[in-house]
Amino acid sequence: MRVFFIGFGQAGGKIVDMFMEQDKKMPTQSFRGIAVNTARTDLMGIKNIEMKDRLLIGQTVVKGHGVGTDNVTGARVTADEIDSIINAIDSRGTHDVDAFVIVAGLGGGTGSGGSPVLARHLKRIYREPVYAIGILPAPEEGRLYSYNAARSLSTLVNESDNTFIFDNSAWKNEGESVKDAYARVNDEIVRRFGVLFRAGEVGVAGVGEMVVDSSEIINTLRGGGISSIGYAISERINPRVKQKQGFLGGFMKKKEKSEELLTGEDKSAKIIALVRRAMLGRLTLPCDYSSAERALVLLAGPPQEMDRKGVEKSKSWVEENIAGVEVRGGDYPVASDYIAAVVVLATIENAPRISELLEIAKATKEDVIRAKDKRSSMFDEGIEPLFE
Ligand code: GDP
Repeated sequence: MRVFFIGFGQAGGKIVDMFMEQDKKMPTQSFRGIAVNTARTDLMGIKNIEMKDRLLIGQTVVKGHGVGTDNVTGARVTADEIDSIINAIDSRGTHDVDAFVIVAGLGGGTGSGGSPVLARHLKRIYREPVYAIGILPAPEEGRLYSYNAARSLSTLVNESDNTFIFDNSAWKNEGESVKDAYARVNDEIVRRFGVLFRAGEVGVAGVGEMVVDSSEIINTLRGGGISSIGYAISERINPRVKQKQGFLGGFMKKKEKSEELLTGEDKSAKIIALVRRAMLGRLTLPCDYSSAERALVLLAGPPQEMDRKGVEKSKSWVEENIAGVEVRGGDYPVASDYIAAVVVLATIENAPRISELLEIAKATKEDVIRAKDKRSSMFDEGIEPLFE
């Protein structure tokens, strides 16, 4: 899939920078990316996005210092400067793009406010789908961050074609510093979404046993709403051991046959186990997977390990476990010593973390209104103001 990434705000910019770094190392390039921010220093910290593709907005309002945690200002400056953002995207080339993906931390100001505005405009202008990767703040960041994230997400789900959620609180380890967690967590994000978004691209390793093209990803995400991703990686596969077995088999025809059969079964079993681990392990958004409307099962690994039967059986297993019946899937070969499985749980109905976030946001809003009323009533004791 050819993806145009837009990193909005600090977290978004950093993560898109990492997608670009990953893409540079690939034999063929599938990604394009720009970064948008109101803070100059955040844009300077980026390494793999060209200078001309880093866009500073809101200069007349915040003078390059960022909007802080004020996502209303983030939304306003984005709306005011939407033409220059669209121009930057256009000048990078969009004719061969399969999808747009906006990446942002939803708890702050720039990405939180700007992403839904950009999604709306991209959807109006282009025919390609517009997805978002929205990062939820950890509760310990404070209630304002949760409030911002709830407002941003409630808008974003209606403006984008599908929103992938990544929950920072589910991924931060006990006792880990926030900064350390970000470096590790960002790596996890880029690894998962890298495998997903690179599906359908023909690399030097050839085509898969069961090819997945970008239209299957798009169809999986068609239901809108929010989605979560599971991921698992196999143990290291030692190709040298495999070669030796094949060579020996040449002299012992009978044995070779039975070994082949066993290897085939092994391959399927390995794939099924990997897909189960991906879906039952830690998801980007912990949720009730049985409430997913659609799913996509994706395998990437060395060509000799790919197995049609394994993919088919995994798809059936996923289908038995989700609410809907639409499960797509396939594989693609990559030159690697590992097999990776990705399971997209699309259009999820039930995620306690989202309900919790919305509850915190509602309580915060009520507290803000109460505090405001208190403040205004203090001076409301019949003293005439100097002027109205
Ligand atoms: P913005 O620049 O105003 O859009 O705000 P930031 O991106 O700096 O922060 C918004 C939220 O994103 C924070 O509250 C964190 O929850 C999250 N965040 C910030 N930096 C990172 C990062 O590097 N990785 C991850 N996973 N989350 C981040």
